[in-house]
Amino acid sequence: MVTTPHSTRRTFLKHATAASVGAVAAMMPATARAAAPFARAQGPGVYRYNLGAFELTALYDGIWYSPIGNGFVRNAGAHAVNGALARAFLKPNVLPISITALLVNTGAKLVLIDTGSAGQITDTAGLMSANLAAAEIKPDDIDVVVISHFHPDHINGIKTKDGDKVFTKAEILVPEPEWAFWMNEANLSRATGTVHKYFLNAGRIFKDIAGEVRRYTPGAELLPGIVSIPAYGHTPGHTAFALHSDRQSMLVMSDTVRNPYLFARNPDWQPTFDMDGPMAVKARRRMLDRAAADRMLVSAYHFPFPACGHMLRAGSGYELVPVMWSPLP
Ligand SMILES: [Zn+2]
Repeated sequence: MVTTPHSTRRTFLKHATAASVGAVAAMMPATARAAAPFARAQGPGVYRYNLGAFELTALYDGIWYSPIGNGFVRNAGAHAVNGALARAFLKPNVLPISITALLVNTGAKLVLIDTGSAGQITDTAGLMSANLAAAEIKPDDIDVVVISHFHPDHINGIKTKDGDKVFTKAEILVPEPEWAFWMNEANLSRATGTVHKYFLNAGRIFKDIAGEVRRYTPGAELLPGIVSIPAYGHTPGHTAFALHSDRQSMLVMSDTVRNPYLFARNPDWQPTFDMDGPMAVKARRRMLDRAAADRMLVSAYHFPFPACGHMLRAGSGYELVPVMWSPLP
């Protein structure tokens, strides 16, 4: 058979390829030939970092995809809000609300700041207790639970769905003005809609353990190195925190700033979930100003996991610069 140089080369390549594939297959163990099964799950949502002598553990609870309507931001239209979502590569008309609780080991006490949703808000959140276990901490190990405010995603982890206490040995600290507002029967009777549900939920969590709950005045130092900061507006007694250890400080901003791509970039926006919009804006600006000016490490309950980083001034707002994952705290 007469072949052209071109077809000879093609035949050679064909044979060479088939031979190499055969050789590689022969070297591989038989099990590797099967397709790997899809994992369809994440690893544990636990991230450790240090502040001075404190060890902090961010505990991921999940994410709540909350549909938002036209009037979601009182002083900005749906077009502007969807524009901000698009700039963050997010879908329109849905606000992703990531939830991360913060565990502080002061060396003397194990302190949990807010408690997650306990799987009672949405199917895509409720991982806090599994992640606590992954962090090798038992609920009974926690000495103090500090609450920022009484919204369900912050207090529901105090109890199981059946009403059992989760942190059986912990003292529970709550902001006094928050208690005064949500535990007031006259306020409950006036409330409607979602806020009414929040009142009932606060009662479910706290009524039968009222004697065991210690109320603090925002501004007070709660434990050595953990100082509460009044940041009212989101709710009447909404509280943030400053942590101090070995001359290092950080701000735990709670819900002062929620999704950073909306509310750090647009601190003046007044979403409907801030009960007093103008007051919440003042608290948000004050907190972000301090974080940026002092270049403080911050964490915020609804920032993307591990919910910590720094805030940088950018135009009339702020940008989150997330921490880079580090294998060592
Ligand atoms: Zn919240």
